[in-house]
Amino acid sequence: MFYGFDMGGSKIELGVFDADLQRVWQKRVATPRDDYRQLLATLRDMTLEADAVCGAPGQVGIGIPGLPNDDDGTLFTANVPAAMGQALPRDLAALIGREVRVENDANCFALSEAWDKEFRRYPVVFGLILGTGVGGGLIVDGKVVSGRNHIAGEFGHLRLPVDALEVLGRDIPRVACGCGHRGCIENYISGRGFEWLYAHFYQQRLSAPQIIAHYQAGDPQAQAHVERFLDLLAICLGNLLTVIDPHLVVIGGGLSNFAAIYQALPSRLPRSLLRVAKMPRIEPARYGDAGGVRGAAFLNLADH
Ligand SMILES: [Zn+2]
Repeated sequence: MFYGFDMGGSKIELGVFDADLQRVWQKRVATPRDDYRQLLATLRDMTLEADAVCGAPGQVGIGIPGLPNDDDGTLFTANVPAAMGQALPRDLAALIGREVRVENDANCFALSEAWDKEFRRYPVVFGLILGTGVGGGLIVDGKVVSGRNHIAGEFGHLRLPVDALEVLGRDIPRVACGCGHRGCIENYISGRGFEWLYAHFYQQRLSAPQIIAHYQAGDPQAQAHVERFLDLLAICLGNLLTVIDPHLVVIGGGLSNFAAIYQALPSRLPRSLLRVAKMPRIEPARYGDAGGVRGAAFLNLADH
């Protein structure tokens, strides 16, 4: 059995998956946010409860909103203060008597989608999250490509490409990003960026669902906004595709439900790609909120 923990700032969810990758059991508890001992005890108890349900010890993977530090085994998890700077994989492994694999949650999302029955035939899969922020994960032959710092695929912190300035205007403000840099594309192509661009061009603060409702009702201003946004998204994604050359791009997060994205990208992306490049398949994510536990569990699939 494969145990996947999705450790978030408010809840910890455990999903137990069998050899056919079907979820056979699950449990959800509140995250002990500030007490490391209690956090470890919670993860241990959930593991042992799953062992009792399954009748044998399963393999453990954990997805975290943050980054594992491979040099010293500690975690960087701003949203789960109890785990910040702690060697959680090693400490939990000692408590439950088995290896514990940890990966950032965007990589778990991508891994979950890459192991979909239909998608798993694609050798190179990029999972792109267009939500409040922008995240991403790269999967090659069913395995996460973590890189030196587990930041491979963190698409959102590329800076605006020069072609984007043709679309947005050369005087577009370089928005300060949470990462400390300015002009990261997350601030323009995320759901938050979608709203920021609308406010920038039209001096009106609307939510993304409100803007999309106006767009769908045929409002010219909202339509011009969406056209501009889709051009920008195609330009940013074009750069990524040229580097990664994936067979499949799976899009998750709140904006992934916006059907115009899938209609627009096939015609707009080729302008930003090499002429010889064939388009990857581009699909909305299939597992929604379940992607976290699925991807964490699949960190232990046999060929890893
Ligand atoms: Zn950034």
